[in-house]
Amino acid sequence: MKTVKVKDKEFSLLLSEDQIKIAIKKVADRINSDLDGKNPLFLAVLNGSFMFAADLMKDINIPSQISFVKLASYDGMQSGGTVKEVFGLSERIDGRTVVIVEDIVDSGRTIQQLLFSLSSRNPAEIRIATFLLKPEALQCDLKIDYVAFEIPNDFIVGYGLDYDGYGRNLSEVYTLVH
Ligand code: 5GP
Ligand code: MG
Repeated sequence: MKTVKVKDKEFSLLLSEDQIKIAIKKVADRINSDLDGKNPLFLAVLNGSFMFAADLMKDINIPSQISFVKLASYDGMQSGGTVKEVFGLSERIDGRTVVIVEDIVDSGRTIQQLLFSLSSRNPAEIRIATFLLKPEALQCDLKIDYVAFEIPNDFIVGYGLDYDGYGRNLSEVYTLVH
């Protein structure tokens, strides 16, 4: 079993480069056929999605644009929840088909807040493409349109995802060894 040490923890290989490549091509093919003629605007959520976004976009062959957003977290006033605000979005999205490009959907709260925030800008439609989904962790009623992989509810690193800022550069996905 291939393992890697990131900072002070050991991780073992979950998804190989080849598996990732094949799954991303499948997602791209579906987007190419679903959104043909819709001139979509892809919105990649930094930092985690940078690698997925780069590889996905190489397989997108319909006219489209890509932009990048970041979510700033701050403590909300209500019920101690964290509020996430979108920044970096300079494009107008009214009337457009927007595809959010995410690294991972865990509880789903991040995506839910992003959807809420983008909806106020009147897009024609918002779709969600995520590299990873943890179905067992999902706590929101969300329609995730495109998923490259469903994975167990364990902590993972690599392919854009970090452990304390490290491991984003790994070209494969690794899971924490308990
Ligand atoms: P959610 O709001 O869906 O619970 O969480 C989404 C965010 O949590 C992701 O964008 C990511 O930053 C972080 N996250 C969730 N699960 C993992 C994981 O297994 N590994 C890493 N590195 N980040 C995760
Ligand atoms: Mg993220």
